[in-house]
Amino acid sequence: MQRMICRAGVRAAALAVSMLVAPCGNVLGQEFVGRERLRAQSDEFRKDVIRMTDGVYVAVGYSASNVTLIQGDRGAIIVDTGSDPVDARAVRAAFANLLDAPVRAIIYTHGHPDHTGGAAVFAGNDNPEIYSHQLLVEGPPDIIRGMRDGGDQFGMTLPDSLYINAGVQLQYGRVTPPTREGYLRPTRTFNGDQLSLTIAGVRLQLLHAPGETRENIAVWLPDKRVVMAGDDFYRAFPNLYPIRGGRLRPPEPWIASLDRMLALGAEHLVPGHTRPITGAAQVRAALTAYRDGIQSVLDQTLAGMRKGERPDELVQHVRVPPPLADSPYLQEFYGCVAWSVRAIYADRLGWFDGNATRLFPLTERERAAKIIALAGGADQVLARARDALAARELQWAAELADYALAVDGMNGEAKRVKARALTELGERQMNANARNYYLTAAQYLLRDLPRQ
Ligand SMILES: [Zn+2]
Repeated sequence: MQRMICRAGVRAAALAVSMLVAPCGNVLGQEFVGRERLRAQSDEFRKDVIRMTDGVYVAVGYSASNVTLIQGDRGAIIVDTGSDPVDARAVRAAFANLLDAPVRAIIYTHGHPDHTGGAAVFAGNDNPEIYSHQLLVEGPPDIIRGMRDGGDQFGMTLPDSLYINAGVQLQYGRVTPPTREGYLRPTRTFNGDQLSLTIAGVRLQLLHAPGETRENIAVWLPDKRVVMAGDDFYRAFPNLYPIRGGRLRPPEPWIASLDRMLALGAEHLVPGHTRPITGAAQVRAALTAYRDGIQSVLDQTLAGMRKGERPDELVQHVRVPPPLADSPYLQEFYGCVAWSVRAIYADRLGWFDGNATRLFPLTERERAAKIIALAGGADQVLARARDALAARELQWAAELADYALAVDGMNGEAKRVKARALTELGERQMNANARNYYLTAAQYLLRDLPRQ
Protein backbone atom coordinates (compact mmCIF):
# COMPACT_ATOMS: atom_id res chain seq x y z
CA MET A 1 0.00 0.00 0.00
CA GLN A 2 2.80 2.31 0.97
CA ARG A 3 4.48 1.53 -2.33
CA MET A 4 1.30 2.23 -4.30
CA ILE A 5 0.82 5.58 -2.62
CA CYS A 6 4.42 6.41 -3.30
CA ARG A 7 4.14 5.50 -6.96
CA ALA A 8 0.89 7.43 -7.27
CA GLY A 9 2.68 10.37 -5.74
CA VAL A 10 5.44 10.13 -8.30
CA ARG A 11 2.85 9.92 -11.07
CA ALA A 12 0.97 12.95 -9.78
CA ALA A 13 4.18 14.94 -9.57
CA ALA A 14 5.11 13.92 -13.10
CA LEU A 15 1.72 14.94 -14.45
CA ALA A 16 1.91 18.25 -12.62
CA VAL A 17 5.22 18.94 -14.36
CA SER A 18 3.76 17.83 -17.69
CA MET A 19 0.76 20.10 -17.31
CA LEU A 20 3.11 23.08 -17.21
CA VAL A 21 4.17 22.35 -20.75
CA ALA A 22 1.43 22.00 -23.28
CA PRO A 23 3.21 21.71 -26.63
CA CYS A 24 0.89 22.20 -29.54
CA GLY A 25 -2.15 22.55 -27.34
CA ASN A 26 -1.91 19.01 -26.05
CA VAL A 27 -2.06 18.63 -22.30
CA LEU A 28 0.10 15.61 -21.63
CA GLY A 29 -1.86 14.76 -18.50
CA GLN A 30 -4.82 13.98 -20.71
CA GLU A 31 -2.87 11.21 -22.38
CA PHE A 32 -4.29 10.35 -25.78
CA VAL A 33 -6.86 13.10 -26.32
CA GLY A 34 -4.56 14.80 -28.81
CA ARG A 35 -4.05 11.67 -30.87
CA GLU A 36 -7.78 11.06 -31.10
CA ARG A 37 -8.35 14.65 -32.17
CA LEU A 38 -5.71 14.21 -34.87
CA ARG A 39 -7.49 11.06 -36.02
CA ALA A 40 -10.75 13.02 -36.25
CA GLN A 41 -9.01 15.64 -38.41
CA SER A 42 -8.69 12.97 -41.13
CA ASP A 43 -12.37 13.59 -41.88
CA GLU A 44 -11.23 16.83 -43.55
CA PHE A 45 -9.57 14.77 -46.26
CA ARG A 46 -12.43 12.55 -47.40
CA LYS A 47 -12.62 12.59 -51.17
CA ASP A 48 -15.13 15.00 -52.55
CA VAL A 49 -15.77 17.27 -55.51
CA ILE A 50 -17.51 20.22 -53.88
CA ARG A 51 -19.53 22.74 -55.89
CA MET A 52 -18.82 26.20 -54.48
CA THR A 53 -21.07 28.17 -56.83
CA ASP A 54 -21.93 28.20 -60.53
CA GLY A 55 -18.88 27.01 -62.42
CA VAL A 56 -16.50 26.57 -59.47
CA TYR A 57 -15.66 23.12 -58.09
CA VAL A 58 -13.03 22.01 -55.59
CA ALA A 59 -11.51 18.54 -55.43
CA VAL A 60 -10.66 17.77 -51.80
CA GLY A 61 -8.87 14.66 -50.57
CA TYR A 62 -7.57 13.38 -53.90
CA SER A 63 -4.14 14.84 -53.33
CA ALA A 64 -2.20 16.59 -50.58
CA SER A 65 -3.56 19.96 -51.71
CA ASN A 66 -6.91 21.10 -53.06
CA VAL A 67 -7.46 21.52 -56.80
CA THR A 68 -10.03 24.06 -58.03
CA LEU A 69 -11.78 23.92 -61.39
CA ILE A 70 -13.28 27.13 -62.80
CA GLN A 71 -15.52 26.64 -65.83
CA GLY A 72 -15.29 29.31 -68.52
CA ASP A 73 -17.01 29.98 -71.86
CA ARG A 74 -14.68 27.97 -74.00
CA GLY A 75 -12.46 26.06 -71.65
CA ALA A 76 -11.42 25.69 -68.05
CA ILE A 77 -9.08 27.25 -65.49
CA ILE A 78 -7.29 25.14 -62.88
CA VAL A 79 -6.00 26.60 -59.61
CA ASP A 80 -3.29 24.37 -58.08
CA THR A 81 -2.65 20.94 -59.48
CA GLY A 82 -2.03 18.40 -56.72
CA SER A 83 1.25 16.71 -55.83
CA ASP A 84 2.08 14.58 -58.83
CA PRO A 85 0.69 13.11 -62.07
CA VAL A 86 -0.89 10.12 -60.29
CA ASP A 87 -2.95 12.38 -58.03
CA ALA A 88 -3.70 14.82 -60.85
CA ARG A 89 -5.13 12.02 -62.99
CA ALA A 90 -7.36 11.02 -60.07
CA VAL A 91 -8.57 14.62 -59.74
CA ARG A 92 -9.17 14.87 -63.47
CA ALA A 93 -11.20 11.65 -63.37
CA ALA A 94 -13.18 12.95 -60.39
CA PHE A 95 -14.01 16.20 -62.23
CA ALA A 96 -15.12 14.01 -65.17
CA ASN A 97 -17.23 15.98 -67.63
CA LEU A 98 -17.27 19.04 -65.37
CA LEU A 99 -13.86 19.71 -66.90
CA ASP A 100 -14.59 20.84 -70.41
CA ALA A 101 -11.38 20.96 -72.41
CA PRO A 102 -9.36 22.84 -73.32
CA VAL A 103 -7.64 23.93 -70.11
CA ARG A 104 -6.95 27.57 -70.90
CA ALA A 105 -4.97 28.48 -67.81
CA ILE A 106 -3.31 26.96 -64.75
CA ILE A 107 -2.68 29.16 -61.73
CA TYR A 108 -0.21 28.27 -58.99
CA THR A 109 -1.10 29.90 -55.68
CA HIS A 110 2.50 29.22 -54.65
CA GLY A 111 5.44 27.00 -55.45
CA HIS A 112 5.16 24.16 -52.96
CA PRO A 113 5.46 20.85 -54.79
CA ASP A 114 2.11 19.51 -53.54
CA HIS A 115 0.39 22.40 -55.36
CA THR A 116 2.42 22.39 -58.57
CA GLY A 117 3.40 18.78 -59.23
CA GLY A 118 0.38 17.69 -61.29
CA ALA A 119 0.35 20.50 -63.87
CA ALA A 120 1.33 18.40 -66.89
CA VAL A 121 -1.78 16.24 -66.50
CA PHE A 122 -4.10 19.25 -66.63
CA ALA A 123 -2.14 20.95 -69.41
CA GLY A 124 -2.20 17.88 -71.64
CA ASN A 125 -1.83 19.16 -75.18
CA ASP A 126 -3.85 22.30 -74.49
CA ASN A 127 -0.82 24.52 -74.05
CA PRO A 128 -2.36 26.67 -71.30
CA GLU A 129 -0.75 29.76 -69.85
CA ILE A 130 0.64 29.00 -66.40
CA TYR A 131 0.37 31.90 -63.98
CA SER A 132 2.21 32.62 -60.75
CA HIS A 133 3.80 35.47 -58.88
CA GLN A 134 7.29 36.32 -60.13
CA LEU A 135 8.72 35.40 -56.73
CA LEU A 136 7.83 31.77 -57.43
CA VAL A 137 10.40 31.54 -60.21
CA GLU A 138 13.10 33.85 -58.86
CA GLY A 139 12.98 33.22 -55.14
CA PRO A 140 15.36 30.95 -53.30
CA PRO A 141 13.80 27.73 -52.04
CA ASP A 142 12.78 28.03 -48.42
CA ILE A 143 14.69 24.87 -47.57
CA ILE A 144 18.28 23.98 -48.28
CA ARG A 145 17.90 20.49 -49.63
CA GLY A 146 19.70 17.70 -47.87
CA MET A 147 20.21 19.63 -44.64
CA ARG A 148 17.29 18.02 -42.87
CA ASP A 149 15.01 15.26 -44.08
CA GLY A 150 11.76 17.00 -44.96
CA GLY A 151 10.02 13.66 -45.23
CA ASP A 152 10.12 13.02 -41.51
CA GLN A 153 7.52 15.62 -40.56
CA PHE A 154 5.25 14.04 -43.18
CA GLY A 155 5.94 10.55 -41.83
CA MET A 156 6.94 9.40 -45.31
CA THR A 157 8.68 6.26 -44.04
CA LEU A 158 6.38 5.39 -41.14
CA PRO A 159 4.53 2.07 -41.30
CA ASP A 160 0.77 2.35 -41.82
CA SER A 161 0.19 1.11 -38.27
CA LEU A 162 1.81 4.28 -36.85
CA TYR A 163 0.57 6.80 -39.38
CA ILE A 164 -2.54 8.99 -38.99
CA ASN A 165 -2.24 12.02 -41.31
CA ALA A 166 -0.06 15.04 -42.04
CA GLY A 167 -2.21 17.62 -40.27
CA VAL A 168 -3.61 19.51 -43.26
CA GLN A 169 -3.39 16.63 -45.69
CA LEU A 170 -4.01 12.92 -45.55
CA GLN A 171 -0.53 12.17 -46.81
CA TYR A 172 2.34 13.57 -48.81
CA GLY A 173 5.03 11.35 -50.31
CA ARG A 174 3.88 8.09 -48.73
CA VAL A 175 1.94 6.53 -51.60
CA THR A 176 4.14 7.77 -54.43
CA PRO A 177 7.57 9.28 -53.78
CA PRO A 178 7.78 13.04 -54.31
CA THR A 179 8.47 13.79 -57.96
CA ARG A 180 8.73 16.92 -60.09
CA GLU A 181 8.02 15.19 -63.37
CA GLY A 182 4.56 16.77 -63.62
CA TYR A 183 5.73 20.31 -62.84
CA LEU A 184 5.56 22.95 -65.56
CA ARG A 185 7.30 26.29 -65.26
CA PRO A 186 5.08 29.36 -65.14
CA THR A 187 4.71 31.04 -68.53
CA ARG A 188 3.25 34.28 -67.23
CA THR A 189 4.25 35.88 -63.96
CA PHE A 190 3.57 39.25 -62.41
CA ASN A 191 5.45 41.50 -60.04
CA GLY A 192 3.94 43.65 -57.39
CA ASP A 193 0.53 43.65 -55.90
CA GLN A 194 -2.07 42.42 -58.32
CA LEU A 195 -2.85 41.10 -61.78
CA SER A 196 -6.37 41.38 -63.25
CA LEU A 197 -7.31 38.92 -65.97
CA THR A 198 -10.24 37.70 -67.99
CA ILE A 199 -9.82 34.10 -69.09
CA ALA A 200 -12.52 32.20 -70.97
CA GLY A 201 -14.95 34.95 -70.00
CA VAL A 202 -14.15 34.65 -66.28
CA ARG A 203 -12.85 37.71 -64.44
CA LEU A 204 -10.03 36.92 -62.01
CA GLN A 205 -7.74 38.91 -59.76
CA LEU A 206 -4.46 37.45 -58.62
CA LEU A 207 -3.59 39.21 -55.36
CA HIS A 208 -0.10 38.97 -53.93
CA ALA A 209 -0.75 37.65 -50.43
CA PRO A 210 2.44 36.45 -48.74
CA GLY A 211 1.92 34.07 -45.84
CA GLU A 212 3.20 30.53 -45.58
CA THR A 213 5.28 31.40 -48.65
CA ARG A 214 6.36 34.83 -49.79
CA GLU A 215 5.12 34.24 -53.36
CA ASN A 216 1.62 33.17 -52.29
CA ILE A 217 -1.28 34.67 -54.22
CA ALA A 218 -4.96 34.69 -53.41
CA VAL A 219 -7.15 34.09 -56.45
CA TRP A 220 -10.30 36.22 -56.32
CA LEU A 221 -13.32 35.76 -58.58
CA PRO A 222 -15.24 39.03 -58.08
CA ASP A 223 -18.34 37.91 -60.01
CA LYS A 224 -18.59 34.61 -58.17
CA ARG A 225 -17.48 35.90 -54.76
CA VAL A 226 -14.98 33.06 -54.36
CA VAL A 227 -11.46 33.51 -52.96
CA MET A 228 -8.79 30.82 -53.13
CA ALA A 229 -6.34 31.54 -50.31
CA GLY A 230 -3.49 29.22 -51.21
CA ASP A 231 -1.67 28.27 -48.02
CA ASP A 232 -2.50 31.48 -46.19
CA PHE A 233 -5.41 29.61 -44.69
CA TYR A 234 -6.25 26.02 -43.78
CA ARG A 235 -8.04 24.34 -40.94
CA ALA A 236 -5.12 24.24 -38.48
CA PHE A 237 -2.89 26.71 -36.68
CA PRO A 238 -0.62 28.19 -39.37
CA ASN A 239 2.79 26.66 -39.84
CA LEU A 240 4.76 29.79 -38.99
CA TYR A 241 7.88 27.67 -38.58
CA PRO A 242 8.44 24.33 -40.36
CA ILE A 243 10.42 21.77 -38.37
CA ARG A 244 11.60 20.28 -41.65
CA GLY A 245 13.86 23.33 -41.64
CA GLY A 246 13.22 26.83 -42.86
CA ARG A 247 12.95 30.43 -41.86
CA LEU A 248 10.16 32.01 -39.88
CA ARG A 249 7.23 32.71 -42.19
CA PRO A 250 6.92 36.38 -41.18
CA PRO A 251 3.65 36.93 -39.29
CA GLU A 252 3.09 40.60 -40.21
CA PRO A 253 2.67 40.13 -43.98
CA TRP A 254 0.58 37.02 -43.31
CA ILE A 255 -1.74 39.09 -41.12
CA ALA A 256 -1.89 41.80 -43.81
CA SER A 257 -2.79 39.18 -46.42
CA LEU A 258 -5.66 37.91 -44.28
CA ASP A 259 -6.86 41.50 -43.91
CA ARG A 260 -6.72 41.87 -47.66
CA MET A 261 -8.86 38.77 -48.12
CA LEU A 262 -11.28 39.94 -45.44
CA ALA A 263 -11.78 43.21 -47.33
CA LEU A 264 -13.02 41.28 -50.38
CA GLY A 265 -16.24 40.26 -48.66
CA ALA A 266 -16.03 36.77 -50.14
CA GLU A 267 -18.93 34.35 -49.87
CA HIS A 268 -16.77 31.30 -50.46
CA LEU A 269 -13.27 30.52 -49.19
CA VAL A 270 -11.19 27.74 -50.71
CA PRO A 271 -8.14 26.92 -48.58
CA GLY A 272 -4.98 25.34 -49.95
CA HIS A 273 -5.77 22.32 -47.79
CA THR A 274 -8.83 21.09 -45.88
CA ARG A 275 -12.44 21.72 -46.76
CA PRO A 276 -13.81 24.98 -48.18
CA ILE A 277 -16.09 27.37 -46.31
CA THR A 278 -19.31 28.87 -47.65
CA GLY A 279 -21.33 31.82 -46.35
CA ALA A 280 -20.13 35.40 -46.08
CA ALA A 281 -20.43 35.40 -42.27
CA GLN A 282 -18.64 32.07 -41.95
CA VAL A 283 -15.83 33.19 -44.24
CA ARG A 284 -15.44 36.44 -42.36
CA ALA A 285 -15.41 34.65 -38.99
CA ALA A 286 -12.82 32.11 -40.16
CA LEU A 287 -10.43 34.68 -41.66
CA THR A 288 -10.86 36.98 -38.66
CA ALA A 289 -10.06 34.19 -36.19
CA TYR A 290 -7.00 33.21 -38.20
CA ARG A 291 -5.72 36.76 -38.37
CA ASP A 292 -6.37 37.43 -34.69
CA GLY A 293 -4.80 34.13 -33.63
CA ILE A 294 -1.54 34.95 -35.40
CA GLN A 295 -1.61 38.54 -34.14
CA SER A 296 -2.10 37.45 -30.55
CA VAL A 297 0.77 34.97 -30.59
CA LEU A 298 3.01 37.60 -32.16
CA ASP A 299 1.95 40.29 -29.66
CA GLN A 300 2.38 38.05 -26.62
CA THR A 301 5.80 36.93 -27.81
CA LEU A 302 7.04 40.46 -28.43
CA ALA A 303 5.62 41.67 -25.11
CA GLY A 304 7.45 38.88 -23.29
CA MET A 305 10.66 39.64 -25.16
CA ARG A 306 10.44 43.29 -24.12
CA LYS A 307 10.38 42.05 -20.52
CA GLY A 308 13.53 40.06 -21.19
CA GLU A 309 11.94 36.63 -21.33
CA ARG A 310 13.90 33.86 -23.03
CA PRO A 311 12.37 31.35 -25.44
CA ASP A 312 12.02 28.65 -22.78
CA GLU A 313 10.09 31.12 -20.65
CA LEU A 314 7.96 32.47 -23.49
CA VAL A 315 6.69 29.04 -24.53
CA GLN A 316 5.44 28.45 -21.00
CA HIS A 317 2.73 31.08 -21.32
CA VAL A 318 2.18 32.22 -24.91
CA ARG A 319 -1.08 30.63 -26.06
CA VAL A 320 -3.93 31.29 -28.44
CA PRO A 321 -6.24 33.00 -25.94
CA PRO A 322 -9.91 32.24 -25.37
CA PRO A 323 -12.30 32.41 -27.14
CA LEU A 324 -9.98 32.08 -30.17
CA ALA A 325 -8.50 28.95 -28.60
CA ASP A 326 -11.75 27.16 -29.44
CA SER A 327 -11.73 28.17 -33.11
CA PRO A 328 -11.69 25.08 -35.33
CA TYR A 329 -9.25 26.95 -37.57
CA LEU A 330 -6.59 27.47 -34.90
CA GLN A 331 -6.10 23.97 -33.56
CA GLU A 332 -2.46 22.89 -33.64
CA PHE A 333 -2.75 19.96 -36.03
CA TYR A 334 -0.08 21.43 -38.32
CA GLY A 335 1.52 24.66 -37.06
CA CYS A 336 2.51 24.85 -33.40
CA VAL A 337 2.38 27.91 -31.15
CA ALA A 338 5.50 27.00 -29.16
CA TRP A 339 7.62 26.53 -32.30
CA SER A 340 6.25 29.80 -33.69
CA VAL A 341 7.27 31.63 -30.52
CA ARG A 342 10.82 30.28 -30.72
CA ALA A 343 11.05 31.19 -34.41
CA ILE A 344 9.79 34.75 -33.80
CA TYR A 345 12.38 35.13 -31.04
CA ALA A 346 15.20 33.79 -33.23
CA ASP A 347 14.08 36.01 -36.11
CA ARG A 348 14.28 39.15 -33.95
CA LEU A 349 17.16 38.38 -31.59
CA GLY A 350 19.01 35.46 -33.16
CA TRP A 351 20.15 32.24 -31.51
CA PHE A 352 21.49 33.74 -28.26
CA ASP A 353 18.96 33.77 -25.42
CA GLY A 354 20.80 36.31 -23.27
CA ASN A 355 22.16 33.93 -20.63
CA ALA A 356 25.93 34.52 -20.53
CA THR A 357 26.54 30.87 -19.62
CA ARG A 358 25.35 29.96 -23.09
CA LEU A 359 27.77 32.18 -24.99
CA PHE A 360 30.27 29.33 -25.25
CA PRO A 361 28.58 26.22 -23.87
CA LEU A 362 30.24 22.90 -23.18
CA THR A 363 30.04 20.46 -26.03
CA GLU A 364 27.17 18.01 -25.72
CA ARG A 365 29.68 15.24 -25.11
CA GLU A 366 31.54 17.11 -22.35
CA ARG A 367 28.34 18.06 -20.58
CA ALA A 368 26.98 14.51 -20.83
CA ALA A 369 30.20 12.98 -19.48
CA LYS A 370 30.09 15.27 -16.43
CA ILE A 371 26.38 14.68 -15.75
CA ILE A 372 26.89 10.93 -16.07
CA ALA A 373 29.82 11.06 -13.64
CA LEU A 374 27.65 13.10 -11.26
CA ALA A 375 24.88 10.49 -11.48
CA GLY A 376 27.22 7.55 -10.82
CA GLY A 377 27.61 6.18 -14.33
CA ALA A 378 25.68 5.54 -17.52
CA ASP A 379 23.82 2.57 -16.02
CA GLN A 380 22.46 4.83 -13.28
CA VAL A 381 21.40 7.42 -15.82
CA LEU A 382 19.55 4.81 -17.88
CA ALA A 383 17.95 3.33 -14.75
CA ARG A 384 16.61 6.80 -13.92
CA ALA A 385 15.47 7.13 -17.53
CA ARG A 386 13.47 3.90 -17.22
CA ASP A 387 11.96 5.23 -13.98
CA ALA A 388 11.04 8.39 -15.83
CA LEU A 389 9.35 6.35 -18.55
CA ALA A 390 7.35 4.49 -15.92
CA ALA A 391 6.33 7.79 -14.34
CA ARG A 392 5.50 9.22 -17.76
CA GLU A 393 8.13 11.90 -17.46
CA LEU A 394 8.70 11.26 -21.10
CA GLN A 395 10.70 14.35 -22.01
CA TRP A 396 13.04 13.75 -19.10
CA ALA A 397 13.48 10.13 -20.13
CA ALA A 398 14.48 11.22 -23.64
CA GLU A 399 16.89 13.84 -22.27
CA LEU A 400 18.54 11.30 -19.93
CA ALA A 401 18.94 8.87 -22.82
CA ASP A 402 20.55 11.67 -24.84
CA TYR A 403 23.28 12.03 -22.18
CA ALA A 404 24.12 8.35 -22.55
CA LEU A 405 24.07 8.60 -26.34
CA ALA A 406 26.24 11.72 -26.36
CA VAL A 407 29.14 9.75 -24.88
CA ASP A 408 28.37 6.48 -26.67
CA GLY A 409 26.33 6.66 -29.84
CA MET A 410 26.21 2.86 -30.02
CA ASN A 411 24.60 2.38 -26.59
CA GLY A 412 21.75 0.06 -27.52
CA GLU A 413 19.85 0.39 -24.25
CA ALA A 414 19.98 4.18 -24.51
CA LYS A 415 18.59 3.93 -28.03
CA ARG A 416 15.79 1.67 -26.84
CA VAL A 417 14.89 3.99 -23.95
CA LYS A 418 14.96 7.06 -26.18
CA ALA A 419 12.90 5.33 -28.86
CA ARG A 420 10.33 4.37 -26.26
CA ALA A 421 10.19 7.93 -24.91
CA LEU A 422 9.82 9.44 -28.39
CA THR A 423 7.14 6.92 -29.30
CA GLU A 424 5.17 7.74 -26.15
CA LEU A 425 5.57 11.47 -26.79
CA GLY A 426 4.46 11.01 -30.40
CA GLU A 427 1.41 9.01 -29.40
CA ARG A 428 0.28 11.87 -27.15
CA GLN A 429 0.59 14.58 -29.79
CA MET A 430 -2.21 16.28 -31.66
CA ASN A 431 0.31 17.99 -33.94
CA ALA A 432 0.90 15.78 -36.98
CA ASN A 433 4.37 17.16 -37.69
CA ALA A 434 5.46 16.46 -34.11
CA ARG A 435 3.91 13.01 -34.11
CA ASN A 436 5.47 12.05 -37.42
CA TYR A 437 8.87 13.42 -36.45
CA TYR A 438 8.89 11.71 -33.04
CA LEU A 439 7.79 8.36 -34.41
CA THR A 440 10.17 8.48 -37.37
CA ALA A 441 13.09 9.36 -35.09
CA ALA A 442 12.16 6.38 -32.92
CA GLN A 443 12.16 4.13 -35.98
CA TYR A 444 15.65 5.34 -36.92
CA LEU A 445 16.92 4.54 -33.41
CA LEU A 446 15.52 1.02 -33.47
CA ARG A 447 16.47 0.25 -37.07
CA ASP A 448 20.11 -0.62 -36.43
CA LEU A 449 19.63 -2.51 -33.18
CA PRO A 450 20.05 -6.29 -33.05
CA ARG A 451 16.80 -8.15 -32.38
CA GLN A 452 16.34 -9.08 -28.75
ZN1 LIG B 1 0.18 23.48 -49.23
